[in-house]
Amino acid sequence: MSALTEDAARALICEIGRRLYARGFASGNDGNLSIRLSPDAVLCTPTLICKGFMSPADLCTVDMNGRRLSGDRPRTSEILLHLEIYRGDPQTRAVVHCHPPHATAFGIARVDIPTGVLPEGEVFLGVVPRAAYETPGSEAFAASVRPFVGQATACVLSNHGTVSWAADLERAYWYTEMLDSYCRMLMLARLLGHVERLPEDKVRELLALRAAFGMAADPRADGSTPLYVNPGFGKPGAPGP
Ligand SMILES: [Zn+2]
Repeated sequence: MSALTEDAARALICEIGRRLYARGFASGNDGNLSIRLSPDAVLCTPTLICKGFMSPADLCTVDMNGRRLSGDRPRTSEILLHLEIYRGDPQTRAVVHCHPPHATAFGIARVDIPTGVLPEGEVFLGVVPRAAYETPGSEAFAASVRPFVGQATACVLSNHGTVSWAADLERAYWYTEMLDSYCRMLMLARLLGHVERLPEDKVRELLALRAAFGMAADPRADGSTPLYVNPGFGKPGAPGP
């Protein structure tokens, strides 16, 4: 199922873990990463480990029920979240969960991330939904992302962090990086006093670019969901956030 050998997948998880830690997306032992190795096996980070200092032998494999198949350390307590996404979208081969500060701030403030602002945000992220808060590691926590799997590629977890998923780990990591970068720019622009929206025809042109990149159509493209999320964000005098 995965184009990667297990050894290559282990090395890649360690490399992406170092990047997450270096970017301040995962403090202490925050966050977890996984790659689906086969229909019945997922390689994941163990619990209570700093993502910046992992070795390939630290990782473990689990089955699709979260039972450990190999590894000396217990698997991450948040593997149920990863498994929920793999079950919901068979195209997904990698999941990144962490606590990037700018995107997480939107989840703490419970502010919807606006759309129609930046080309990269429109093309690659689209609408980033926010899952309801649930206790980390619980079944309810895993289920909180269920409505968005197959609809989005990243999600903000209320009062917790973010999760992103893709066909490979590097791309799943991109989505987390793009999301936090986008949230940072939104906050900075708002501090300057105004967040300008792109006009509707320009947003539609951006959504049309997804096909050129081999990506599925944005659900907003056929008009079934609103083009602009949180259109009041950053408008002087607009009520609320
Ligand atoms: Zn977490």
